[in-house]
This record gives sequence, structure tokens and C-alpha cells, in this order.
Amino acid sequence: MTDGARSATPSGRTPREVATHCPYCALQCAMTLREEDGRVSVLPRQFPTNRGGLCQKGWTSAELLTHPERLTTPLLRDPASGKLRPASWDAALERVTTGIGEVQWRHGRDAVAVFGGGGLTNEKAYALGRFARVTLRTRHIDYNGRFCMSSAAAAGMRAFGVDRGLPFPLSDLGQADTLLLVGANPAETMPPLVRWLTELRQRGGKLIVVDPRATATARQADLHLQPLPGTDLAVANALLHIALTEGYVDSDYVATRTTGFADVRRTVAGWWPARAEALSGVPVADLEATVHALGTAERAIILTARGAEQHAKGVDTVTGFVNLALALGLPGRPGSGYGCLTGQGNGQGGREHGQKADQLPGYRRIDDPAARSHVAQVWGVPADELPGPGVPAYQLLDSLGTVDGPRALLVFGSNPVVSAPRATRIENRLRDLDLLVVADFLLSETAALADVVLPTAQWAEEDGTMTNLEGRVLRRRALRPPPTGVRTDLAILTDLATRMKGRAPSYRLVHRKGPLLTADSEAGSAADREREARAADPRTVFAELRRASAGGLADYAGISWERIDAADGVFWPCPREDGPDSPRLFADGFATPDGRARFHPVEHRPAAEEVCAQYPLYFTTGRVLAQYQSGTQTRRVAALRQAAPDAFVELHPDLADRLGVTDGEPVRVLSRRGEFRAPARLSPAIRPDTVFAPFHWGGAARANSVTNDAVDPVSGMPEFKICAVRVERVAS
Ligand code: SF4
Repeated sequence: MTDGARSATPSGRTPREVATHCPYCALQCAMTLREEDGRVSVLPRQFPTNRGGLCQKGWTSAELLTHPERLTTPLLRDPASGKLRPASWDAALERVTTGIGEVQWRHGRDAVAVFGGGGLTNEKAYALGRFARVTLRTRHIDYNGRFCMSSAAAAGMRAFGVDRGLPFPLSDLGQADTLLLVGANPAETMPPLVRWLTELRQRGGKLIVVDPRATATARQADLHLQPLPGTDLAVANALLHIALTEGYVDSDYVATRTTGFADVRRTVAGWWPARAEALSGVPVADLEATVHALGTAERAIILTARGAEQHAKGVDTVTGFVNLALALGLPGRPGSGYGCLTGQGNGQGGREHGQKADQLPGYRRIDDPAARSHVAQVWGVPADELPGPGVPAYQLLDSLGTVDGPRALLVFGSNPVVSAPRATRIENRLRDLDLLVVADFLLSETAALADVVLPTAQWAEEDGTMTNLEGRVLRRRALRPPPTGVRTDLAILTDLATRMKGRAPSYRLVHRKGPLLTADSEAGSAADREREARAADPRTVFAELRRASAGGLADYAGISWERIDAADGVFWPCPREDGPDSPRLFADGFATPDGRARFHPVEHRPAAEEVCAQYPLYFTTGRVLAQYQSGTQTRRVAALRQAAPDAFVELHPDLADRLGVTDGEPVRVLSRRGEFRAPARLSPAIRPDTVFAPFHWGGAARANSVTNDAVDPVSGMPEFKICAVRVERVAS
């Protein structure tokens, strides 16, 4: 089924149904939306990934379509009162274009920055990158996916020459004999995925989880390794050390399909199991049992997620597990391999098509002359007019409003006031801007600071494509048009480009000779309006995206909406419409110049901030089942608010005893960067030396007020998962 009317209901009206996918996480569960008498309900839909399953977030996702807090008119900050006031689209967009013009006139093109999101469709991510590079001609664009899985992306690129979250279909998990899950808690983040873990265990397979907390997923595991936060890399090196000494390394595979093992062998020689136990707290016996389970399995899979990745050494930590997978000969072997569980809905596609500071569409490098030439040709601009690489998300946000940083920021689909590390500092940076523009459908904490807020369409009101955690390109289908007063992101970008046309020398404004809008057309003409409408049409944008990605690593050239409709999605790379797609990678070779995967020696190093007398506890952040990301959406859904109404601070009962804290009592968590408050939740699931809090809430309960802004030198990933704190009773 794609979409269409169904038989009449008792009310006499004909209900409408559309087959689409959930608006939230990267599992992109299939669902059917049904509109009946104006009311939209969610029905589960069979699909190879979720097999009819949905979590509470998916079930309740339609509630926001008619939420009373939904934005349906642009807002402009009134200089006299300092308050946001309703405004016309014309006034709001005029304020944006005038503001951008003034900032660029005074401070140069790079004084305007763009910040995107991992939830935007492929079409929107592509259009946003093109808008930044061609219209604004700024090098400053990055997105919140940098905070999500950029470390795994960088590790995958350097080992395999390509970054696709799972290089095999999700269903392979159910067929594995051993699955090692590092820093992932799908039982709370992606509940329908747990069916595959259950299937694995029912077949007699082993699930091993590495996590500092005894999470809902870890409690289902056959073996739970509970390392001290920040020591996963030592664990990975010790596992490879054991694999070597116990004879589990696949020498043929290493010799014929990889390079660089000798250096890795030397590095891990220093990670004898007792040393790793002393550092991480994971018993030697558990390390040995893990290697035995992986080494004797016919089909074994190693997966990492945010727990391993969100560190200032996240790329090296992931690389440690990739090294282990390669040494065991897993990548490319049927039913085996290494993969990363992507988090955000379009975290995968969002990083493939130009939102990242250093990338052009098709996962091309922006500093590669051939890539620039290809994309510039598609965009109809000279290659030397394309800006160079910008800076990663945190560096960008931290430079806002400073002498050398951007003075204006356009935000699409992101809420960095809650989701950025050291969030108080970032909030202040945003306040220092000359112009902050936020496109969103709810007044997020970031939108509340904006000078201009542009109300956007929701997922059920737009067409497009998403790329799930398997690299499978899916169709998002509109059930109905946006409400009056609301525009799609594509329409906003197109309108802005048109308005900027010819205003000032610093504007490129529209694609000079590009296929969608041309600078030589007169603004306001019928032909111009027609071109605008075409430019805002997601199908037209996807057609251009296909051409721009052709020949790149993430090649979508052979993927059409019709082809996606005819199957259960299409896996990239897919260079030809009449050729196959790529559900499984690496069977015949890797995407490196010599076709071999590359080992990289990686050494454990301490966290950027270790505990001390003043801040004696480790702090780590994560997610809860009923909330999503910065909570802008899920905190407003009644059923989710009821299930997870507030933030909390998880403490081990022994620690609580030492601090004199009782269950439910408000506590204050302090680091060198700030503090937040939330009720204590006592649980033996956490180590006594570690404190946990979810990051979905803002205001006084904002966990990111204390997190560390140290970043990984390769990926730019901030160290969300470990910093030093102390916990105090609020009463004290
Ligand atoms: S697991 Fe993810 S995609 Fe599936 S219903 Fe829940 S939030 Fe939506």
C-alpha cells in the first residue's frame, strides 16, 4: 500500500490512509497513518525492520499534529518589549533576508552560519547544504548529527573507506550466534529492535552487553560487562589481546583482506586482561568469556552506539572494536560484521548529503577538487565559488557572536540549547548573535531565544525520503497538507533564496545557472513562481540529489521514489536504476584504494576530565524510553509525559547512603561548568562511583549544563558520556 482513500466510515466521510514511517529514531518503524473525521491515528505496519512493532513514541506521534502549542504563524521579536510577536510571512522573511544582508555586508560571507538536524529528510538536508554553499556562500554549516554518531562515522571511514551504520540488514542480528553490543540500550531507545535480540537468544545465540549501567538491555544479556565510564577502549584492546593469545584471530582474513595488523598486534600486547580489569573493573573471566563467544561463533556481530562513541576518544574507542571485528574476520562474512546503531531518524542520510561542515552530497569531501567540480556542475556554479570546509558543530556553536565567529545563525530541526554540551555557554553564545532564526513547529528552548521563528510542516504533512540505520532509503509520505500559515522547510529555503536574489554583492542568492532556480529570471514573474514551486518540490530536489550524489560513496543515482515504493526501500550505494542495490557491503572488498580494510593501532587514554576531591563522581548521560532527543516533541505528548514526566539523577543506593540522599529527594549535580537539579532515583543498576541522568529536559533540569565540551580530535564529537561531578542534597 502507498496511500489512498478507504471505504466510508459511519460518519459518512471517507477515511484516508498513507503508508509512512515514524518521525523519530533511526529504526524508522513503518506505520500507517489514518485520517478519519479530521483525527489522525497511527496503525502499525509490517516492514522488514520493525515487523509491525512500534514503541510508545511512535504510537503517540500523531498527537503533535494538532497540539495546542503548535506554531502556525511566524514570530518576530519585538525590539520594544523584547517579546516574540506573531508576524506575516512577508515580514518574517524580510527580517531574515535583511538581517543576513547586513551581517554579511559588515562581516563577510562566513558571518552567517547554518545549523541543521539529523531528523531532516534527505531532500531538506541536501537543500540546506546547497542553500549554505550556493545562496549564502558560507563555509559555516554543520548539524546536530555531529553529537550523535560522528565518531563511528569517522572510524568506519578510516577502516572500511565508507560509513554506513549497518553494512548489512538489521535482520542479520536475529541470525547471529553471538552479538556484542557496546554502549547501546535499544530496549529503551529502539524497543522493536529487541525482537531481533530475542530471536537470537531463542536460537541459542549469546547476547553480550558492555555498559556502565545495568540497563533494560543489559538485564536481558547472557553476559553484562560493566566497565567504568571512559574505559571501553581498554576493554576492546584487552579483548583483542585475548583473541590473539587464545588463537581466535583469523590469520587468512587478516593476511588477504586487511592491512596494518602488525602495529595493532604490538599495541594490544600491552593490554593483558588483568591490566584491563584493574582499569575498567571488568573481571578477566568475563573478558575471556566474551572472546570465546565471539571466536567460536559461526556468525558474530559487534555493534557500537553512543556509549562508546560520545567521548573525546570516541573514534579510537570505536576503532578498537573495529580492530577486534577485523581480527576475527567478521566484516563481509555472511551473517557477521561490525556496525553502528545510528540514533536520529535520518542521522544516516543527514550526514550523506551536505549538512556536514566538510562534506558535499554523496558523502563527498568538500576539499576534493573532483568532488567540488562534480557538485558545482550540478548546482550550476563555478567550482571555485564553493566555500571550503567549515568547523564541527560544537566549535561552530562556541564561536557564535564572538569577534571571529558568525554573527547570524539559521537553525533547522535542532535544539542545541538543550542538546549541546556545556549548554549554558552555548545558550549565551546564541544570545550574543545579531540574528538568530529558528525553523521549527514547536517553540523549543532554542526557538524561544530567536529573533525570528518560522513555523514548519510536520512529518505527516510532507513527502520525502529518509535513510534508516541500515542505509535503506525509505519514503516519507504526506497524509495531508500543512495547516494554514505553515510552510515546509523546502518552501522556506526557496523563498529565502528568491528574496535574496540581486540584493547585495555578498549574495549569490540563487543558483546562477542551476537547474532549479536561475538568477537571470526576474523575481515575481509567473515563470519565476513556477520555478520556485518546482524548487520546493521534494521530488524535484531528490532528482537533483541523485545527480549530485552520482559517483560518490553514498551514490543514490539509481534510487527513484518509484523504486522505493515498489520494494521495502532501497539500500545505497545504488548507482543505476537498472542495477542492484547494496543490502550487504564488503563481501568482495572494502571501499579503500586497495580494497582492504585498514587496522589502526589505538591506545587507551584517560577521559578529558577525571574525578578529583572536589568532583569525586563520574557523570554520564543517556536516554529514557518515553522521551526523544531534546524532548521538544515528546515532552509535549500527554502519554509520554505521564510515562516520563521529569528528569532524574540515578544514584547507587550505597552512594546515596554516603551522601545522605533518599529516593525522590531533589539533588544538585555540579561540575566545573555548571549545575542542574532533579530528584534522586536510587538504583543498584548503576555503579556506586557513577551518576546518570537523561538529557531530554531543559531549564533547571538540563543535564547538559554540566557535560564536558572536550571534543574528539578526529570527529568533533563532544565528551557527553563522562565528566567529573559532585552531588549535593538541595537542602544542603
Ligand atoms: S523505535 Fe524509533 S522509529 Fe520505532 S516507533 Fe519507536 S521512536 Fe519510532
